[in-house]
Amino acid sequence: MRILITGGAGFLGTHLCSFFLKRGDTVICIDNLITGTRENIALLTDEPNFIFIQHDITKGITFNDDIDWVLHFASPASPVDYRRYPIQTLKVGGLGTHNCLGLAKEKKAKFMLASTSEIYGDPQVHPQKETYFGNVNCVGPRGCYDESKRFAEAMTVAYHRVHKLDTRIVRIFNTYGPLMRINDGRVVSNFIYQALTGKNLTVYGDGAQTRSFCYVDDLIRGIVKFAEIENEGPLNLGNPEEFTILELAREVIRLTGAKSKIKFLPLPEDDPKLRRPDTSKAEDLLGWQPKISLEEGLKRTIEWFREKV
Ligand code: UDP
Repeated sequence: MRILITGGAGFLGTHLCSFFLKRGDTVICIDNLITGTRENIALLTDEPNFIFIQHDITKGITFNDDIDWVLHFASPASPVDYRRYPIQTLKVGGLGTHNCLGLAKEKKAKFMLASTSEIYGDPQVHPQKETYFGNVNCVGPRGCYDESKRFAEAMTVAYHRVHKLDTRIVRIFNTYGPLMRINDGRVVSNFIYQALTGKNLTVYGDGAQTRSFCYVDDLIRGIVKFAEIENEGPLNLGNPEEFTILELAREVIRLTGAKSKIKFLPLPEDDPKLRRPDTSKAEDLLGWQPKISLEEGLKRTIEWFREKV
């Protein structure tokens, strides 16, 4: 197959590129490198079936050859990144999604949108099922990301309904693993980096807020299975095991053997208090469940970070 991946030099994008190249597909990776990196794709650029195009998809997107799939994974995705690039975040979810859908329509390709648990905002329903409409503050600091993805979902569904495009919407919950940018500002990368460099771990608020962390290999396996079935979603993918941020900090200190202490800092505005995916739809449709525990996933991630710091 010929698979075009936007955001292909980002954390999830690069894992997808590697997976499809290994499977024997041709991969066209498009990235403007505002948060993706050349370092991520350095090992792939020698592969004969890998094409990298540095391009901003919000300005339009054309490609001469046939394409079977468009996987739209381009967007700043860490809260620190989208706060730094709010306009680019809104543009890539809005204009970028529209352009990618137009390309998929022209090529008669299938289309997958990487959406997010952020569309549920600070949820008042727990755990979050796909049928929950969410609780988003559109003018808050996270609004640029949440609303861009909500718009992207609405646009994807409109192309499915009007143009009969074969589409998928996957709502991705917190995912971690090798190839995260070590300074991307997310909690797992921050804590591991801080522990490995002898700094104190910065817990925001009292650390009682929860997240559910999915190791990247589990997520990629779910995405690939989702692409293989006939169902447009939306579909939650993530690990349903829930931890407080304080528990995560203690686990990172334990697994790294660091002498670090915990330093409490103010909680950012609109930080979701609870987050856990209801993954029963993914279990029913795909027979999918995450296999890698937080302990195992953190060990693998710490090992990778040790070589980077
Ligand atoms: N967080 C923290 N310390 C950090 C980074 C993040 O306590 O150094 C908290 C953050 O306030 C949030 C959770 O960890 O409650 C997850 O943050 P992340 O930025 O990874 O992503 P989010 O799930 O909020 O999109």
